[in-house]
Amino acid sequence: MTDVIDGKKVAEEIKNEIAREVDLLKKKHDKQPGLAVVLVGEDPASQVYVRMKGRDCEQVGIESFQYTLPEETTQEELLKLVKELNGRDDVDGILVQLPLPAHINESLILNTLDPKKDVDGFHPVNVGKLVTGDEDTFYPCTPYGCQELINRHVSDLKGKHLVIVGRSNIVGKPMANLMVQKNQRANCIVTICHTAAPDISYYTRQADILVVAAGRPEVVSGEMVKEGVVVIDVGINRIDDPVNEGKKKLIGDVRYEDVAEKASAITPVPGGVGPMTRVMLLKNTLKAFKQHNNIA
Ligand code: NAP
Repeated sequence: MTDVIDGKKVAEEIKNEIAREVDLLKKKHDKQPGLAVVLVGEDPASQVYVRMKGRDCEQVGIESFQYTLPEETTQEELLKLVKELNGRDDVDGILVQLPLPAHINESLILNTLDPKKDVDGFHPVNVGKLVTGDEDTFYPCTPYGCQELINRHVSDLKGKHLVIVGRSNIVGKPMANLMVQKNQRANCIVTICHTAAPDISYYTRQADILVVAAGRPEVVSGEMVKEGVVVIDVGINRIDDPVNEGKKKLIGDVRYEDVAEKASAITPVPGGVGPMTRVMLLKNTLKAFKQHNNIA
């Protein structure tokens, strides 16, 4: 029997825990965590993500400050805002929604964030700490959410072969760095494969745990995995719905039906990794708030 990993349910549980903790902290310290989300431009997907982040914050008692700036915003104007947010006492976490318009240097903006407020975990200081295993950092939300799902489904990870398809800075690489660490939540043998592999199935077939973040619909099929694998499908692909003409539907990077036949556990799309990414941002914001206010 394949276990369908319900990311929505797990995210809801974590959200409730966060809401309870925020409520207690508010009562005790008369303060609440604050998250600033900065969006530049009118990208519709980014607008939806930013709205959802605002709603998530509201649901757990985190104050959300949303900055929606026009596409023509200059790099200097954005830098000025980031610096102002760095200095604000009521802002514990800052998230600059990516991608930024082409005229703005993304890494310059990310490098300007105060690493202690970088709840997305993309600042080089936080990336470095992730690599060296220093836990005084923020883990990027998507791999962090994947790790949480893996931890809830595999009891002993020591020596398990975890294969990742994709080497992006936001998913593939941080996923590898998280899962290779020598601790109970990780300790895996990690392989990353990408487009330079002549045949990724050589690697995917060896996986005890397979994380797929390629951004290509159904790039992993049933014959590319072994029996009993645990599959985490990060991909979100919007395709024409073959059943409802004119409508779109979301599918993952894994061909769900035939991979599920062999997997011991698998995340669905939607309802797997997506909700986990959102809730890990709240978790990171709460961590930033506690550090900022010296709360153990
Ligand atoms: P990305 O920056 O486009 O990176 C994709 C990676 O996959 C690249 O390293 C690429 O290799 C590799 N790749 C692409 N096609 C491949 C193939 N056929 N065989 C082997 N490797 C292949 O994408 P991303 O930002 O990591 O996102 C990946 C997917 O996850 C997207 O669908 C995105 O929408 C989704 N996503 C979901 C969440 C969530 O919360 N659920 C969060 C973030 C991303 P090269 O480096 O060689 O080009």
